[in-house]
Amino acid sequence: MSNRADTRAWIEIDRAALRRNFRTIQRLVGPAGRIIVMVKADGYGLGAARVAGALEPLDPWGYGVATAEEGIALRNAGIRRPILVTEPLPSAATEAAASAGLTASISHPSQLDRWAAVAHLSPAGLDFHVEIDTGMGRCGLDWREAAEWVTFLRARTGAQLRWTGVYTHFHSADLVDESSAEQWARFREALRVVEADGVGRMVHAANSAALLRFPEYRGDAVRPGLFLYGGDPVPEVRSAGDSGTHLPRAEVVLSVRARIVMIREVAPGTTVGYGATYRAARRERWATLGIGYGDGLPRALSNRGSALVHGRRAPIVGRISMDLTVIDVTEIPEAAVGDVATLIGRDGGEEITLEEVASQAGTINHEILTGLGSRLPRVEVGGGADVE
Ligand SMILES: *Cc1c(COP(=O)(O)O)cnc(C)c1O
Repeated sequence: MSNRADTRAWIEIDRAALRRNFRTIQRLVGPAGRIIVMVKADGYGLGAARVAGALEPLDPWGYGVATAEEGIALRNAGIRRPILVTEPLPSAATEAAASAGLTASISHPSQLDRWAAVAHLSPAGLDFHVEIDTGMGRCGLDWREAAEWVTFLRARTGAQLRWTGVYTHFHSADLVDESSAEQWARFREALRVVEADGVGRMVHAANSAALLRFPEYRGDAVRPGLFLYGGDPVPEVRSAGDSGTHLPRAEVVLSVRARIVMIREVAPGTTVGYGATYRAARRERWATLGIGYGDGLPRALSNRGSALVHGRRAPIVGRISMDLTVIDVTEIPEAAVGDVATLIGRDGGEEITLEEVASQAGTINHEILTGLGSRLPRVEVGGGADVE
């Protein structure tokens, strides 16, 4: 265990909650719906192999990663299911990706040529999915040009090089607008051309936000990331009211905790942190936490965020440093050196959500998760109790 008394800060990962979030998605998509678990960026900071290890018994269709390296790491961790690499493979990574039997995403004919050239490296042959760009504009073949690229792709496909999937990606599934409907219509238009040959291919489009909001755009498979890890993919939709309020919520999977390494009583006028941006208004009691922006606690939370100590909120005072953060515990007299403060997660009846931290930091919860530093040990909790 890494949250023993000499550990200054750590991340707790609740495996049972992760599994319950997966089951929530299974219930939403039904028995025929496949789930591609997105574990890019080391499982959003939770650890890709750990996430896969927890979810393997629940039978996901496969995993989604951004890079060949991430896919190879999963193979090395013993994962045998399909692993879809969503980013275009750089030429230098193609051989290794083929040898590991990864599934490539094709966004350009030249990428398929390269994939074809390494198909012999995988005894079972290679699979690929085609990404169709319907408005995201990063990768993918243009939906308007399906007739051209379909001819090219079909001509290169065979027993050793199998075209097994087609997908697109929504740019605003978390916003209240009509863009997802428009993207889906574009996708359907291209799919009509793709599907004219009668070959069954797995169709997928939905990230966490889309799979919660749009049952009609789920296709054959969904690609959740954030929801599995306890983030709310649709905070704006919820705050817009009505249509958002009934959407399922993910259970908290991750908590960020740090110990109080020092406590001081300070006189009025005492300043704290770089720039001395906070000054004690009265006699105050300050606790110094062993965590800072070098651990991924956003510096934007300086003088804005809070921590939970003994189930109560204590405001962050002054600027967050690389390694240390100071909170005002004047109202929590029992706080003592060695006590645990919660920066993200629950303590008693109080909770600091990922969304709260993300909004204070002016970003999305994905970035908070993936920004959590490697300096923080990951500690698994809740491994046993896996209640349906
Ligand atoms: C990251 C990603 C997802 C998952 O998105 P979430 O918002 O985390 O659910 C799905 N599809 C693709 C292509 C992605 O890159």
